[in-house]
Amino acid sequence: MLNTLVAFSNEYGSDPELVLAGGGNTSAKDSDTLYIKGSGTTLGTITADGFVKMDRKKLSFMMEKDYPESDKEREAAALADMMDAKYPGQESKRPSVETLLHALFSTKFVLHLHPAAVNGLTCAVDGKNRTMKLFPEAVWVEICKPGYILAKLCAERMDEYRAVYGKEARLLFLQNHGVFFAADTREELAQMLDDVTEKISAELADYPDFSDSDVSVDNALCQKIAKLYSDTAAAVHDVSKQSVGFSESEESVAPLMKPFTPDHIVYCKANPLYVESERNLETDFADYKEKYGYAPKIVVVKGKGFFAVSDNEKQALTAQLLFRDAMKIAVYSRSFGGYLPMTDEMTDFIVNWEVEAYRAKQAQ
Ligand SMILES: [Zn+2]
Repeated sequence: MLNTLVAFSNEYGSDPELVLAGGGNTSAKDSDTLYIKGSGTTLGTITADGFVKMDRKKLSFMMEKDYPESDKEREAAALADMMDAKYPGQESKRPSVETLLHALFSTKFVLHLHPAAVNGLTCAVDGKNRTMKLFPEAVWVEICKPGYILAKLCAERMDEYRAVYGKEARLLFLQNHGVFFAADTREELAQMLDDVTEKISAELADYPDFSDSDVSVDNALCQKIAKLYSDTAAAVHDVSKQSVGFSESEESVAPLMKPFTPDHIVYCKANPLYVESERNLETDFADYKEKYGYAPKIVVVKGKGFFAVSDNEKQALTAQLLFRDAMKIAVYSRSFGGYLPMTDEMTDFIVNWEVEAYRAKQAQ
């Protein structure tokens, strides 16, 4: 079972159409035990040791328990119970924040992904209607705060599904987030994934174009932006046709000014900075920092595409990858009634959650 889990995790994790950076997670279970991807591991390279061994009884007990109403207290208490649900000898491991969602499915294997094509659907105005038409036997879960509260909402939607269909849910779409596939064999998982990919692809009328544009890479501006970020930062300049197209005007860049999924917040910050003219760069950058309390990781310059900036080149390239993902979603969503970003309430919640997580890490 564990070998199969590692094999399909590596296979799907190595496909950039399905998994970017640390995104997505997988699990396997028998009657007593759930093996879930550890937080901070990468699907493409994960080994058996990267999975956390959890007690299923303790996890299902969590779903029945009464937790405090306040976000902070509830999530802290749930996290403590989650850590307690690990088998002994795994003190250094941290189960994925989405562990409880995996535990809800009755199948042996669960695959959770955030592919751009799927999110073109989950981040669209007609997302729910079109999903239910394309996949009548899927469960749709509306946008929700991450963590325990999301697991509770999914459980509720899955109970409703069971009541209507008289069977367990196997396919679940999360608005502004991604998709869950649940199956008992690897072959069945592959088939479900193919089916979803094919049906969505058949609906797409518009595709992004990341081939080179006429704009050339501006190394001087890269350095300038890196310097504004920090003394040791690195920046990359994306001059693809798609990026330059989005950067043409305030109106064309509008679909990218708010995040589509939590991934975009984690890797690109909640909002990019759009600069009308290079002359305003310093002041606009300073205004952004003043407004949000941190520097932007994505700077869109009118007519010149965008710059991704971070502490080092690797992180800057990851931010570039995730901002291109947002562009793909924006383009794909046109086939489903147009783009629908995360709500401001949800964005604020995740931004604060990130700040808390960062503080906790610093305090260790
Ligand atoms: Zn996820």
